[in-house]
Amino acid sequence: MSSQKLTVAVLGTGIMGAGMARNLAAAGHDVRAWNRTIARAQPLADAGVQVTADPAAAVTGADVVLTMLLDGPAVLDVMRTAGPALTRGAVWVQSSTVGPDAQSELAAVAAAGGLLFLDAPVLGTKAPAESGQLTVLVAGPAAARALAGPVFEAIGSKVIHVGDDGDGGAASALKLVLNSWVLAITNAAGEVMALAKGLGVDPDRFFEAIEGGPMDTPYLRLKASAIRAGDYSPSFTVEGALKDLTLIVDAAERRGVRLDVAAAGAERFRRALDQGHGGDDMAAAYFASFPG
Ligand code: NAP
Repeated sequence: MSSQKLTVAVLGTGIMGAGMARNLAAAGHDVRAWNRTIARAQPLADAGVQVTADPAAAVTGADVVLTMLLDGPAVLDVMRTAGPALTRGAVWVQSSTVGPDAQSELAAVAAAGGLLFLDAPVLGTKAPAESGQLTVLVAGPAAARALAGPVFEAIGSKVIHVGDDGDGGAASALKLVLNSWVLAITNAAGEVMALAKGLGVDPDRFFEAIEGGPMDTPYLRLKASAIRAGDYSPSFTVEGALKDLTLIVDAAERRGVRLDVAAAGAERFRRALDQGHGGDDMAAAYFASFPG
């Protein structure tokens, strides 16, 4: 446990933010949490987290503000609402996946509030968020990184320093690169399972054939197992995956890079969303292979 006790505001206690808030409280920090749907934050009170009715109450007097909201527009909206209550000199750890192109607007909000901004998205899903085993990708000034160190220690097991400029979006760029990979595997897993079903191939024979070889991949097995078990309890939702693939395709396009697989993957997530699977785990993109 870190010896430095901080007051930390967690804005957004969904799948990820809830686990992060719990681990911050378990590490001895004074944690205030706010969530748009307050019922989702209330169970955190059992862990000693102070649940607040609005973002301003959460950030008042906070040394560190951690945002873990769906997307860039939600982060901007919530931080602008919290604005007048922010403490000048506090560190803003922005961990939502928003992509590098959202950074300039976020940095402007940070500058207006006198905050030290860290672009700090995380790698890892629900289970690592709950066990404090996330990988934190961080870009931002050394002084802010040092102040936020105890927070990273509580939520993660690894910190990857990407640069000293938080405003440039270097960590968010790395996060999109990572997610392009994991979302490609997820969609490939769904299509493999759908094709096997369509062709009448027993998935066990597929796994028997690849076992121990270079085609075998733990993540493929994870998502294929969820599909075979019909267990779509969310670690990362279809809605979130669609948001990320849209960010990925748009960010690439702006830089003259064409991503056909990611674009097709986004269409699969969009179809699954339209079929009513938006809140299910992204493995539910499997259903995009079949008529809704
Ligand atoms: P989630 O469970 O869907 O939570 C999303 C959060 O954003 C909830 O607190 C939600 O509030 C809030 N929100 C959405 N729209 C809002 C708005 N317009 N105004 C205010 N609040 C809003 O998602 P999550 O999986 O925790 O993801 C949170 C962030 O972490 C996302 O950027 C995601 O891409 C990223 N991330 C997720 C994972 C993962 O595996 N799950 C891993 C790494 C990074 P309500 O509860 O009221 O809807």
